[in-house]
Amino acid sequence: MFIAQRAERLQPSATLAVAGKAKAMKREGKPVISFGSGEPDFNSPASALQYASDAMSKGFTHYTPESGIPELKEAVCRYYQDHFGLSFSVPEVLIGAGAKPLIYEALGCLLDPGDEALIFTPAWVSYVEQIRLFDAKEVLVDTSDTGFIPDIDRVRSLISPRTRCMIVNTPNNPTGSVYDRKTLLGLADIAIKHDITIIYDEIYERLVYGDAVHNQILNLCPAAREHTITINGVSKAFAMTGWRIGYALGPKGIISKMSSFQGHLTSNPCSVAQYASLGALRGAEDDVVRMHASFSGRRERILGLLRDMPHIRFAEPKGAFYVWIDIEKTIGMRYGDRVIENDASFCEILLEAKYVAAVPGSGFLTPGNIRVSYANAEEEIVEGMKRLKEFLVELC
Ligand code: PMP
Ligand code: GLU
Repeated sequence: MFIAQRAERLQPSATLAVAGKAKAMKREGKPVISFGSGEPDFNSPASALQYASDAMSKGFTHYTPESGIPELKEAVCRYYQDHFGLSFSVPEVLIGAGAKPLIYEALGCLLDPGDEALIFTPAWVSYVEQIRLFDAKEVLVDTSDTGFIPDIDRVRSLISPRTRCMIVNTPNNPTGSVYDRKTLLGLADIAIKHDITIIYDEIYERLVYGDAVHNQILNLCPAAREHTITINGVSKAFAMTGWRIGYALGPKGIISKMSSFQGHLTSNPCSVAQYASLGALRGAEDDVVRMHASFSGRRERILGLLRDMPHIRFAEPKGAFYVWIDIEKTIGMRYGDRVIENDASFCEILLEAKYVAAVPGSGFLTPGNIRVSYANAEEEIVEGMKRLKEFLVELC
């Protein structure tokens, strides 16, 4: 069968690939501990389950408006009012089947073939592939040497007449960095001056720790409103990854185009999942606070264990639930008769030898690193880190 070039170029999601492999090995009875996919292990909140069950018994199991049910859009507006003091109207909100397809729809409405989109590396695995699916070009801004926060002059130097958008992700996956006010103001200023759109992916906004503060970019720079599409959803803060509900907020014109795009793509997001998300937004604030406290404890625990390991370096993450680890020093070392050639082989040998799954940094366009998620139960973190340490100690 003839395969289009765009499909030939497409790489599978590194995060989902690791998660899938770990699950398959578990099914074979192997004692795998996965730090692969970023997925909270908690049950979804009781209020979400109740709303879903009510929706099913009341027969809310049909198509919904393509942009989502009005009640959920209103609840999203209320959330943004209560949490950020930002006022959005219902036509400025789109409900989608997760944050991921909403980012895709936004890119689809912003990029023509040959256009450019800026992304900051290390970058979450799906951004680059989604940009390429529209025959557009990613322009990479490395943040590895600037504390995982983009340098504004560097960003400015990469703007071209074809630049249409930049994807800003804070708190950041995979690095856990949280962008400061000055950087966000600098990015907003560039967007306004060059008439480019910021896709502001704040899916981890509830997950910041210690004295870190997450800023909604529109609070810092209200003038950027016409240049910003905010992306959020219930997956991470509400432990609802499998329900597949996200939301986009932005100017009516672009939201309406994204809505039409979605109408041709998925019709609407799942009806029952939309009601579950309504239940979460209306009644799960206590659950979010409780889960945040757990993540905070897990973060302390994993960082404490990692500090005690040889050959690796890492910057303390301030948000999300990942640690980004530099394993450059291990490249060229041996584990038994196998040589660690790169980050992918590090992860492969670690999984085979110790049944510990982590994601290679090359999936985030930054080889020489690995990402571990600490969204797991604390016992798993302790056992998994014990195995990782053994692995590192046994390298020679
Ligand atoms: N953005 C980032 C940075 C993510 O890590 C994820 C992970 N799932 C998403 C978007 C997509 O989230 P969702 O599950 O809502 O599609
Ligand atoms: N976003 C999560 C991660 O980075 C889930 C998997 C995915 O959607 O990529 O692990």
